[in-house]
Amino acid sequence: MSFIRIGGYVVAASVGAVALALVYLLLTSPSVDQSKFAYVGDSANGNPVTIQYMGNTNLLVSDGETHLLTDGWFSRFSTWKILTGKIAPDLAAIDWGLEHAGITELDAVIPVHSHFDHAMDAPEVARRTGAMLVGSESTANIGRGWDLPEEQIYVPEDGEVLTFGAFKVTLIKSKHFTFPGGYTSSQAAVGATIDAPLRPPVAWQDYREGGSYSVLVEHPSGSLLLQGSAGFVPNGLDELDVDVLFLGIGGLGSQSADYQNGYWQHVVMATKPDLLVPVHWDSLTHPLGDEPRIANRLWSDVLNFTPRQSLAYVEAQAVASSIPLRHAPFWQEVKLLPLQ
Ligand SMILES: [Zn+2]
Repeated sequence: MSFIRIGGYVVAASVGAVALALVYLLLTSPSVDQSKFAYVGDSANGNPVTIQYMGNTNLLVSDGETHLLTDGWFSRFSTWKILTGKIAPDLAAIDWGLEHAGITELDAVIPVHSHFDHAMDAPEVARRTGAMLVGSESTANIGRGWDLPEEQIYVPEDGEVLTFGAFKVTLIKSKHFTFPGGYTSSQAAVGATIDAPLRPPVAWQDYREGGSYSVLVEHPSGSLLLQGSAGFVPNGLDELDVDVLFLGIGGLGSQSADYQNGYWQHVVMATKPDLLVPVHWDSLTHPLGDEPRIANRLWSDVLNFTPRQSLAYVEAQAVASSIPLRHAPFWQEVKLLPLQ
């Protein structure tokens, strides 16, 4: 009898401990030194190319005439919803995001790959702004599943140069971040494609990667490259010499020193940037707000997103390589090119 009672206490205590651990992992975030978030450039004042950063790899690039947006991902879902439910674009969040950014018209919306945290809202953003949805065949199938007209979808060849106003845009095939193992590695469908129109709501895993791109944007005022995911093709970017590199660092801190050094050599040193701006380090599960949020401890520390470690790595490497590093402010239109 007393064994049963003690056993019951042990079970209750264990359940309680697990519940407490889960609450801790879900509701607390590791801290990141926000004072390091220095600003890129001055506020816009009629200069040729401005950017506006909106978290993750959402980057609005404009010269006042032509407006390009990468990803356009404004929906955010709780950890619980992502891991247990189905997801679909959050129309209210897209409303809020476009209004907050002052976006009414776009020439192109360009997801860096087809995972939900990049491509899921892009067809709705294209529908509202008249933009061309530009990306992989998998991204095109996300557009088709949202009933975006075929004439508003374009799948470029690897390295094809697209012209939008004074901008030239090239999608260069790259590689997705390689998760070092565990749940994220098994579920992220890296290398898999979306082969038929994808009609949400669907599980997050249904947004398969579909191939990842480095996005090169060239303008008479200068050039920038967005490396959305922290993967690389050895020597794949050696021909480039860009002014500004927006470097995706999600998960980088969880990788081996060899992998990190390879990423640094083949993406950063290869493209010879005069300015480095880390992106894809803020939380994917907090609602998008005015300030960057850091992922909860479950994502940060258990599921390998590692924002602190990734930021610490690139900050140290930038100093060692004498490459200026800045953080783009959230939502603020700032002058980028020509670099001062
Ligand atoms: Zn991804």
